[in-house]
Formats: sequence, C-alpha cells, structure tokens
Amino acid sequence: MWSTTSTKVSPVGLLNILKHPAFARPKRSLTSYASSDIVDRDVVIVGGGPAGLALASAFGHSPLLRNKLTVTLIEGGDLDKIKTWKPAPGHFSNRVSSLTNASQSFLQDIGSWDFVEAERTCEVEQLHVWDGISDARIDFSSSDIRSQSPNHSMARLTENFNLQRGLLRHLDEVPKVQVLQRTKVIYIDRDTEGGGGWPLVHLDDQKVLRARLLVGADGFNSPVRAFARIPSFGWPYDKQAIVATLLHSPRGAYEGPNTTAYQRFLPTGPIAFLPLAPTNSSLVWSTTPSLAAALLACHPSVLSIMINAAFRLPVVSLKHLHQKILDAHANGSPISPEQIREEIRWREQAHNIDPRSVYSSVSVESASHGIPPADSEDVPPIVTELQPGSMASFPLRFNHAESYIGEESGTRAVLIGDAAHTIHPLAGQGLNLGLADVECLSRCVEESLITGGDIGSYTALLPYSQERYFANHTLMSAVDKLHKLYSTESQPVVWARSIGIEVMNELDSVKAAMMMTAGANSAKKARAGSAGWTLAGNTVQTLATAAHAVGAIKGAVGDAVGSVLKNLASR
Ligand SMILES: Cc1cc2nc3c(=O)[nH]c(=O)nc-3n(C[C@H](O)[C@H](O)[C@H](O)COP(=O)(O)OP(=O)(O)OC[C@H]3O[C@@H](n4cnc5c(N)ncnc54)[C@H](O)[C@@H]3O)c2cc1C
Repeated sequence: MWSTTSTKVSPVGLLNILKHPAFARPKRSLTSYASSDIVDRDVVIVGGGPAGLALASAFGHSPLLRNKLTVTLIEGGDLDKIKTWKPAPGHFSNRVSSLTNASQSFLQDIGSWDFVEAERTCEVEQLHVWDGISDARIDFSSSDIRSQSPNHSMARLTENFNLQRGLLRHLDEVPKVQVLQRTKVIYIDRDTEGGGGWPLVHLDDQKVLRARLLVGADGFNSPVRAFARIPSFGWPYDKQAIVATLLHSPRGAYEGPNTTAYQRFLPTGPIAFLPLAPTNSSLVWSTTPSLAAALLACHPSVLSIMINAAFRLPVVSLKHLHQKILDAHANGSPISPEQIREEIRWREQAHNIDPRSVYSSVSVESASHGIPPADSEDVPPIVTELQPGSMASFPLRFNHAESYIGEESGTRAVLIGDAAHTIHPLAGQGLNLGLADVECLSRCVEESLITGGDIGSYTALLPYSQERYFANHTLMSAVDKLHKLYSTESQPVVWARSIGIEVMNELDSVKAAMMMTAGANSAKKARAGSAGWTLAGNTVQTLATAAHAVGAIKGAVGDAVGSVLKNLASR
C-alpha cells in the first residue's frame, strides 16, 4: 500500500537491491574523478523506451520546462536505428501497443503524435473476447463510446518503433533536450561532497551527471529503482508471450474492414489477434514457456496453423495438439506442418466442424470466397503466413514498486513506466499506464516550477505519486485478477465466470462503464474512467458474491464456486 512514511525494506528485499548490478559500485574510488568532471543537469532521464522518450518530448514541448530546465536523456541502446527505421512496404514490427484515446490525446498535446506515421497505425472498432472453455462472449464496439468521444475508436494499434521514431523526430525539433544514446548508466551514487546530496549518474564514457531530479524510465530491471532502494513486489506468471506479425487474406466484400481485435482466453493464457492493415495483424499469445519454446522451434507454418486452431478448436483438442508438439520437441524432431494439419483435420471431423464453417481452419473449403456465413466475424481471418523473422517471445510478470519516489538516500529519484510497474499484456494497458505517468509527472514538475519549488523535492513529487499509484494499482489488480480467473479450468468457476460475462454483455450500462477507460479522450477523463477498470476487477468479487447467492439455491455447488472465486479474488 502507498504510504507517505519512509519505505521499510525487508532484509531479503535489501539484499536483492544491493545485488543489482547498477547498485554495486565498481572498485574504482570516488576520488578517481575530479568534481570538475561532473556536469549538473536539472533532469536526468534514464531510459529511452517509449516512456522515457515521451517524458523528454513533454519537457521539450513545454516552453516553461524547456527554457527553465536542463534535461538529459540517457539510453544504452542505439536510438539512431529507431530514428532511421524504414520497414519494407507491407512489413510490420512485432512489438505493437494498443494506445487508448487518452494516450493519443496526450501525445497530440505534446506535439509528438504528428511525427507518428498514421498510415502504419490501425483503429480498433470492434473487440470480441470469449472464454475458450465455455465460449461465453463479450463484444465491444466503438459505437458504445461514440456519445462521449464522437470521433474516436476504442484504441489505436501502433508499432512501438513507430511511436519511438515519432518521439525521436519530435525531439530533433526541440534541441534543448539532450539525448545521449549508446550510453549506459554504470552505477548511481550520491554526491556527498557539497553537491547537496544529489544523485550522481556514472556513465560508461566516464562522464558523471549530477541530477536535481533523476527519472527512472529504465524498464523492469530499473537501475534507478535499485539506487533509490525502492523495493517492489510481484511474481512471474510462468508464461511467455509469443509475438509475431501475421499475414492473412483481406476481408471479403461482404465483411467489415480489418479493424476487429479478437482475444480468446485459453486455460494456458489468452491469445490475441490485433489488426494492423487489411492483410496484416499482430499476435500476442501468452502460453506456457515450454509450449512457447516448442512452437518457436517448429517450422513457422506450424505456428500459423496452431494460431488458426487456437481461435477455433475446442480446448480438449488444443490440449492434445499441444502435447503432441511438446513430445515431438522433447524427442528432438519438431512436428511438421503436414503432421499438424492432418491432426487438426481429424480433430475437426471428430468435433463435427463443417469444413465450410468459419471454425474450420485447415479445410480447403474454408478459403472459398463468396457471401460469408453469418458468424464469419466471430473469429479472425485465417492466417496464411507469418512475416519472416517476426516471431519472438517475452516472459510475463506482475511487478509494482512499493513507492514511485525515493526517500532518504534515494531522494530526488522518481519512477515512471515499466520501472514502476509491469503487468500482463491481456488488457493492453502497460504502456498506457506509462504514458499517463508521463503526463502526470510533467504536469507536477511544471506546477512546482510555477510555484518556485524545487522540482526534485519530495513535496514537488508527492502529488505525482499520490495521483498515479492508486490509479495504476487499481488497474493492475483488475488485470491480475482477470488473468487468474481465466487461468482455471475448475468447472464451477468456468460456469460462474461465463454467466458473469454473458450477463455483462447484455448490460449496456456496465459495458459502457468498462469502456470509459478506452473511450476517454483525455487523461482527466481516463482517470475518471478507471472506474470502469475497478468495475472489471470488482466483477470477480461480485461473481464470488453472486455465486454465493446462487449457492443458497444450489447448495454445495454454489458454495464451491463461492469459495474458489473468493480465494481467487483475495490472491
Ligand atoms: C507482448 C507484450 C505486449 C504488450 N502490449 C501492450 C499494449 O497493447 N498496450 C500497452 O499499453 N502496453 C503493452 N505492453 C507493455 C509495453 O510494451 C511496456 O509497458 C512498455 O514498452 C514499457 O516502456 P518503458 O519505456 O517504460 O520501458 P522499456 O521499453 O523497457 O524501456 C526501458 C529503456 O531503458 C533502457 N535502460 C535500461 N537500463 C539502462 C542503463 N543502465 N543505461 C541506459 N539505458 C538503460 C533500456 O535500454 C530501454 O530502452 C506489452 C508488453 C508485452 C511484453
């Protein structure tokens, strides 16, 4: 829980922090650099990921911040590669984020959105989400939010590189913000020699920056968080997210454009299909690390065949196929596309799946054109190929810093983005939270300057922490609970969650509340809209209560549902 008192670090937590490479100061003594080598900067941002670049852009855009503050961003990687990124026509990067309207509005407000190549982004007009076991569905449409945001869709899918390149191009226009790339922060310590106790940031080119305000935008393994001795809590999900760029045929003349996102919750994790262009979409498939490794070791056609199956086949058959792939991988002879296609053909027959139906993925008839069946948009288009070289996977985890601002020996340090919080991508919110942090921090720094405050002081940073910590925590817990709720195959839980989702699908007012976050077109409205996410998270608890009420009628079954759900909700 957030607290204004100094953070207590447990002995184990402290040990972990001290083991962090960025915290471990090299043997070289402090006297090996002269104090004249130290460069003073008002703001030092560590990390040139999307969050750090957005903060630098926000500082560069504001005349007050730009003219009053010296700002340096440090990035270990090669930002020139991103700035000159020029993908071949029809090629898309495999790292894609769904940006909410609030994130887009903020990027527009700071003048960066104009530098993002709009033609490479894709509006999400519909979202279909369903339970892999029970098939209970909830469908969202942009029309649900038109009343509050007439010109907006639900979100916009944007390649991370497109966003970062736009931010870098924007920064080129505001040269007052200094960007140091291919420069690593080696360690951070505190100036004890008359520098006011400010953080000293030691770079791998021997330079040392003394920061009035040190911003950690340095991702999950944040060196700034380690320096500030801010513990974090969390857990690995023991899941890998497979990402890839998908190629498929265009939607037929009788179907809508490719602006529908799909997500099916399988017991091993959700699989998402995110539209990018008429014949390209992006995959985020979270599954077990062993299956991810086995799938990525196969011929790419096996992965595309399994993606089609994952959106269509009953879970019992998917489990069987996954086991086949795992066994073949363990035997050192990965399954071939022909073998897996034959298995699926047989399974489709066994499930009485009509070869002409949209639920058939390997039969030739399913590729035929003409007037599509009524349920043609219930599942994504058939993936025909994966963009070569686009397959990768990332471990997934939940992590939240116990505070966003350093205290005592960590004063003048503040965290944003993944350095502060990491969540499961099932709701596509990680970067959106990071951009909301950026909006809030830049506003708080501006307010501190206007009132003549010290921008690195605890007083100046406290409003940032107060505003963002609870907002982030609410959404993070909701997403974590949804993940847990959908990871179980327990029949009573599947039954209860399916009733819940079907009821919610029918309740326009509840759906509208959930859409508030997506629909909000400003940070302020998004803050109000976090009520929608609270609602999503609370749905789990509500289900527990509802299931308990049903228990009054259904006796033992209801009690079992209630206790399992309550257990899930309290975890
Ligand atoms: C599969 C997947 C799908 C996702 N989909 C979505 C989505 O749809 N919507 C959404 O909002 N979010 C999504 N996310 C989350 C989103 O990708 C992250 O939240 C976001 O990229 C984090 O950005 P960041 O700038 O905070 O951190 P990072 O991108 O991790 O950037 C940190 C930077 O700090 C630099 N750095 C670290 N240490 C040092 C050092 N010592 N010296 C110098 N530089 C250093 C690193 O090089 C790096 O560039 C997804 C995540 C995953 C894994």
